[in-house]
Amino acid sequence: MTPKKTNKRKTSKPAKSTKDRGKTAHAAGTNPKRVAAILAKLDEAYPNATCELKHENAFQLLISTILSAQCTDVRVNQVTATLYKKYTSPEAFAHANPRELELEIRPTGFFRNKTKSVMGASKAILEKFGGQVPRTMEEILTLPGVARKTANVVLGTAFGIASGIVVDTHVQRLANRLDLSRNEDPKKIEQDLMQIIPREKWIQFSHQLIWHGRRVCAARKPKCAECNLEKLCYSKDKTV
Ligand code: SF4
Repeated sequence: MTPKKTNKRKTSKPAKSTKDRGKTAHAAGTNPKRVAAILAKLDEAYPNATCELKHENAFQLLISTILSAQCTDVRVNQVTATLYKKYTSPEAFAHANPRELELEIRPTGFFRNKTKSVMGASKAILEKFGGQVPRTMEEILTLPGVARKTANVVLGTAFGIASGIVVDTHVQRLANRLDLSRNEDPKKIEQDLMQIIPREKWIQFSHQLIWHGRRVCAARKPKCAECNLEKLCYSKDKTV
């Protein structure tokens, strides 16, 4: 007697609760073929993606990245265009008049804390690192005002060192929309991405996702009709 066929349909796993989502190591969309297809599409759309903070050296990039917290790169670039003419070295920032510096960086927001970070990081670079921006994650994280996001920007863009993946607001949003991570905490998102993106792509991938977030996959109204990832994307935020 042939066994009775059970009507087992292949169904996707039920969605996890918000509580469970934080514990998910891998999102559903992390199949290596799908990830490779996303990377290929990003390469196609943004072959020359790079950091949009204007800088001439690693130190300037560090300062610009500190200033870019909760602020647009365009605004930071406007401020630094004059700032870097006045303060030309870590020494100059370390010995700045804090009240003056506060006024100068005020347009970037959170200017009091940013002044403390900029001056503190400059002093630490002088006192602990011989005037040079350190090149390891461990060391750069000891600078005041520098967390993993800033560290990844500087190590990746200024030195070409892939120590991690920059997770800013755009990368955070896109990692979720593209189902590459179901976490919300940037540190966990970074860990998820580091597991599925080949290390040699980490630096470029960060820039590409940031560019895509700025140009196409905006927070409020993503331009899905113009998006070359549309066929790979099943986000609930899709507009097509
Ligand atoms: S299809 Fe829409 S939601 Fe998905 S990545 Fe593209 S722009 Fe973003």
